[in-house]
Amino acid sequence: MNFLAAFSLANETALITGGGSGIGLAIAEAMHSAGAQVVLVGRRETELAKAVERLGERAHYLVHDVTQFQQAPDLAQRAQAQFGPITSLVNNAGIHLKKPALETSTDEFQKVLDTHVLGAHALTCALAPAMVERKHGTVLFTASMASLFGIPKVIAYTAAKSAYVGIVKGLATELSADGVRVNAIAPGWIETEMSRKALDGDPTRKQKILGRTPMACLGQPEDIGWAAVYLVSPASKFITGVTLPVDGGASIGF
Ligand code: NDP
Repeated sequence: MNFLAAFSLANETALITGGGSGIGLAIAEAMHSAGAQVVLVGRRETELAKAVERLGERAHYLVHDVTQFQQAPDLAQRAQAQFGPITSLVNNAGIHLKKPALETSTDEFQKVLDTHVLGAHALTCALAPAMVERKHGTVLFTASMASLFGIPKVIAYTAAKSAYVGIVKGLATELSADGVRVNAIAPGWIETEMSRKALDGDPTRKQKILGRTPMACLGQPEDIGWAAVYLVSPASKFITGVTLPVDGGASIGF
């Protein structure tokens, strides 16, 4: 295989949840520029429409709330009817909840788990069977530093993102022999709306983050986008079941 073929996503169609903003949009942009058709999924139509307009041809959107689990098969059906086989699912949609653990209500906890864990599971169940049948596909999750070490005041988020590490391994053992690879990216601190909300007004936390990041800066959404292209492309065809930190060294820093 030559270099271009190894990293090309031509003839691939990726459905990216949370694709209308932040990291999801950066993943969409990178995959799109590698040749993929992309289908962005989220709840806010205006955000999605703006993103699709920016991307141009081979970009589409579908409005869907990932916590409406029972509608996942319908989303899969609509996507494949309009855009052909989905060869890559990127479970990226997420919400943040910053609160001390002992003040986090079960309802708040449940909402975070519903969005990240059960929403991703429902869509995986809706889309992966066809990938297995075609013996070709990838499922990618957006994990977090909270998947890898303890961070205060994000208990529900930590539970959700830690679950991804196990889900990726478990799914990989079930699907990989059928040509469907399952991996995650654990982004370090990346400059997006979500991280701005979490860090604005908390300079101590921001300083702590930069202090433990060997590269001493926040990452850019495109850093995650290019890693996603790699993990979905034939260049990584022998990689499955891993959670790849893309973090400027934050997960190994002191
Ligand atoms: P954004 O807030 O920009 O992105 C979150 C996206 O998820 C939005 O596009 C939102 O769209 C979508 N979303 C949220 N809830 C739902 C839902 N119920 N159904 C469908 N879509 C939903 O933040 P980021 O780009 O930063 O976050 C993207 C992912 O990256 C998340 O999983 C986050 O946990 C993870 N992450 C972010 C890091 C960072 O530093 N920024 C670090 C590590 C991980 P809409 O509101 O229109 O539904």
